[in-house]
Amino acid sequence: MKIRAKRFNRNDRPLVFVRLQQRAEMRKRYIAQIPRWRHPLIGSLFTVPLVGLAISLVLLEKMLIRNFYFPGAPLFLAIVLIALIWGTGPALFSVLLSTLALDYFYLPPFGQFNLAIWPGALQILPFFLAGIVIAIISGQREVARRRALFAEQELQTHADELEQANQELEEANQLKDQFLSMASHELKTPITTIRGQAQVMLRRLSKQKELPGEFSDVRTALERIDEQTYRLTALVDDLLDLSSMRSGKIELRSSPCDVREICSGVVEDQRLLSGRTIELVVPPAPVMLNADCERLGQVVTNLVSNAIKYSPDESPVQVSVHQRDKVVVIEVHDSGQGIPKEEQKYIFETFYRSPDAQTARKSGWGLGLAICKDIVERHGGCIWCESRVGEGSTFFVELPV
Ligand code: ADP
Repeated sequence: MKIRAKRFNRNDRPLVFVRLQQRAEMRKRYIAQIPRWRHPLIGSLFTVPLVGLAISLVLLEKMLIRNFYFPGAPLFLAIVLIALIWGTGPALFSVLLSTLALDYFYLPPFGQFNLAIWPGALQILPFFLAGIVIAIISGQREVARRRALFAEQELQTHADELEQANQELEEANQLKDQFLSMASHELKTPITTIRGQAQVMLRRLSKQKELPGEFSDVRTALERIDEQTYRLTALVDDLLDLSSMRSGKIELRSSPCDVREICSGVVEDQRLLSGRTIELVVPPAPVMLNADCERLGQVVTNLVSNAIKYSPDESPVQVSVHQRDKVVVIEVHDSGQGIPKEEQKYIFETFYRSPDAQTARKSGWGLGLAICKDIVERHGGCIWCESRVGEGSTFFVELPV
């Protein structure tokens, strides 16, 4: 599976093929970007007058200066210029033209080609070879420079596109949060009314001494309505909490609070609710924090109720508080199934529920840990989990003092 993932892309096409295609595409776009007058064919046409100009300069200098030693210099200049503007092909063509021009106009006997004659060929050979080397090096370097420039432009374009996509995603995310917040608000009133009415009816039924047979079904139905609307209310509350927190609508009400007290309150409540053994280990002295005590209580409650929910009934849950240097750490440990490594990075995301949690029919919406994360981060702290399959899980909350 790993090898497949390395060699094939998402559409099952070999990666080498995809890379070649991308390179060809990039080359096509690069060529399309070059102005028409810089195409190699146009360059070859321009080579003739440029070499003509250079050889005229050579002849002029030869006429003006008595001991003229460097006839190749103006021609080399022309070759470099052509290589820089039009690339290696036209530059090589200019080397050939320059060699012939030097031979014809400069090497005695003038006005004829001496290449076929032995000393003539030997005299012109160094110029020819140097010209080729200069043409190739200058042409290649220029092409490489332009390609790098082009790649940089492409990269910039992609970065801009990514930036825009990111912004759009951000907006979509905000819209989603807005929608969730509005939908939760709208749902809250009818759900509360339905639940209220069901509870009123249940109370009335319970006051009746004797109920006709068909009313027992009504009672069961009302109890189901009460139960399910309770779940819905919890979901709507969580959604409202999360969206308000994310949109910054919720202000933290910070005040001095003792983390030991918060944890022992939560442990007490959860013991009563679940009937489970919950061990609490706290330092002897108060552990004071400036924080929103209610919200911190919500975090600990979520972690402890998860520990209870995802571990066997007979196993104990441990809660401990430590203070180190400038941080307070709350640990909640359970001896449940544990969370596989690959799932650990998702559990703090909204609506994530592990496949195990879904198949085991444990109630929940996958919002608890996302809310915990938001609360802890708004306090400047961090939350994480350490877990091994079969060995239970420990959730850590670290808060700055
Ligand atoms: P839920 O309402 O599903 O419990 P949470 O956000 O609280 O939502 O948790 C997200 C998921 O993380 C859970 O569905 C579960 O798969 C996993 N999880 C959370 N706490 C524990 C735990 N103590 N042990 C094992 N899995 C856990």
